[in-house]
This record gives sequence, structure tokens and C-alpha cells, in this order.
Amino acid sequence: MAVLTFTDRGIYCPAGDFHIDPWRPVDRALITHGHADHARPGHRAYLATQAAAPVIRHRLGDINLDTIRFGEMRRIGAANVSFHPAGHIPGSAQIRVEAGGEVWVVSGDYKTDADGLSEPFEPVRCHSFITECTFGLPVFSWRPAGEIAAEMNAWWSANAAAGKASILGAYSLGKAQRLLSLVDASIGPILTHGAVEATNAILRRQGYALPDTVAVTPETKAKDHPGALIVAPPAALGSAWARRFGDASTGFASGWMQLRGVRRRRATDRGFVISDHADWNGLLGAIRDTGAENIYVTHGYTDIFARHLNESGWSAQVVPTEFGGEDDETESAA
Ligand SMILES: [Zn+2]
Ligand SMILES: [Zn+2]
Repeated sequence: MAVLTFTDRGIYCPAGDFHIDPWRPVDRALITHGHADHARPGHRAYLATQAAAPVIRHRLGDINLDTIRFGEMRRIGAANVSFHPAGHIPGSAQIRVEAGGEVWVVSGDYKTDADGLSEPFEPVRCHSFITECTFGLPVFSWRPAGEIAAEMNAWWSANAAAGKASILGAYSLGKAQRLLSLVDASIGPILTHGAVEATNAILRRQGYALPDTVAVTPETKAKDHPGALIVAPPAALGSAWARRFGDASTGFASGWMQLRGVRRRRATDRGFVISDHADWNGLLGAIRDTGAENIYVTHGYTDIFARHLNESGWSAQVVPTEFGGEDDETESAA
């Protein structure tokens, strides 16, 4: 029997009778991280890392959530389970499952470059590896984050000098905090949308280092914060919420910004190519480091990526999941 199988509820472990990041309600759910496509409401019992738990509770409310430390081994039924850093967002994990002497790893979402905020990605040896491939095309190749940070800081400085606010669209969990840790806080004040600030507060309490930020309230006036950088969920860009800042420049940070068509459709003044997912080389390096022979690819350029793996000597197949790619996370501006 396979260690993990693919069902209409999600990835299932028969030996341990649990699901990993299931998309329909189950009795026991092991959760890689708090993004909405992985941590869904309605399960009877949850297990996630200690580091991911506060934000999962914030998003899902009063759930039956047990926690595990990175690297800690847990026996569930006839399976041994452990969680290992995925480097995607703070607290995010890959899940290792061992049953009958065979090891499978579910990557969740991951990136292999350390971002200075999330626990750095850790390769885990296994026989079978279930990998995302959101950016599984050779065109996706990330430049060093320091170079993108310099671009963002230059954009913010120029706007501040011109008397304009800079509004940066970023998802409230993960991307927003990564950008905050990259920008130069000496340029001006940093304001945040309530959804971003709520996550900031949770992560600060856990000890993740973030610069000082001021939450935007109904009373916030642009003239009281000249030259400010405002970090808000993408849905807030161009909304009534954003109009209080008057003539502002808008920016958006995403791996998708590498594609010219996406840049144009986003209708923002500036696009910054930065992602919390592995690029083409990151994916291939991670797969190589697992030593796995069997690769299951989900969400992204699955067909192209699986074909490349098969031509390169792996045994790869596409598996359907309901996980989204970067920026598929739906968030309201509220
Ligand atoms: Zn994610
Ligand atoms: Zn995802």
C-alpha cells in the first residue's frame, strides 16, 4: 500500500488515517501552513507546527489544534510523522511520513532561499516527494532579494521626494512581512492595512523581527505621514481605502511580475519580482536533494514540469490538488 494516496478530499495516509492539507472536511488534518488553500475550516482535529499555530488560529478561529515542533517525531496509527521547515512563510512546513519502511514527503509550498524571517528550507531525504511547481518553467529565475529590495527602496525614496505615498500590495500573511523585513525603514514611516497589521502583531509576539509599523485607521490622514510606505492586501489597491492617500504610486510584489502580460494587467505603477515559492532552479535543486525517485507534481506548470523531470531521469506524475499558486489566496480589502 502506498504511504500516501490522492483522494477527492486531499492527500491521505492510510497507515495513519489522516489527511495532509485536505480541501474537504476530514477527521484528522495535518497542516503545512496557514494560507487559505492549505489551512481550511471544518476539520475535526488539526496538527501544525508550533510556529504556524497562532496564525492558523487567527484565521480559522476556535479549532481543535494540536502542535508539533520542527523535527519532532510523532506516531500516528502505523505511521511516523515529522514536520520540517519549508522556508515559504514563518512556521511553514514540509511533512515527512514514514510507514512500512518507506518515506514520503509533502512539500506544501516552499522556497529554498533563506529570507531571514521564515525558518530556512531543509531538504528531507525520501523515496517519494510531492512537490508544488507554481513556477515550474525555466523563465522563472529569481534575482537576489537584496537587488529587489534596492529597487523597492529607490521607488519609495523617489515617491517620498515627490511628495507621494507609496502603496505596496502584498498578501497579509507572508509576503507583507517579507517585504517589511526587506525595505529600509529609515526612508519614512511605514503604514499597514488592518489585515497586514493583525498578522504582524501575531508574528511579533512569536519573536519574528519586523520593523515598526503604524496601522491605518479611519482617522488616518495622508498629510500626517508624509513620504509613507503603505503595505496593504492587493484587493485594497485602487479601492476607496487607498484613495485617502491621494496621489500615490502603487507597486505589487510577486513572482508573476516576471511575466510582462501580468505586469500590464495588474495596472500598478511598479512590479517587483519577488516570490515565496521556489523558482525553476530552486524546484530542481530541492527535488535532487531529496534523493527521491518518484516525484508527484501539483499546482502550477505541472505538465511541462513533469515532462522535464521524466526526461531528466525521474519518475514523475501530475496529481490533481486544489492548492492555489502564489497570489491565488483570496483576501478582501476589509
Ligand atoms: Zn502558501
Ligand atoms: Zn498554496
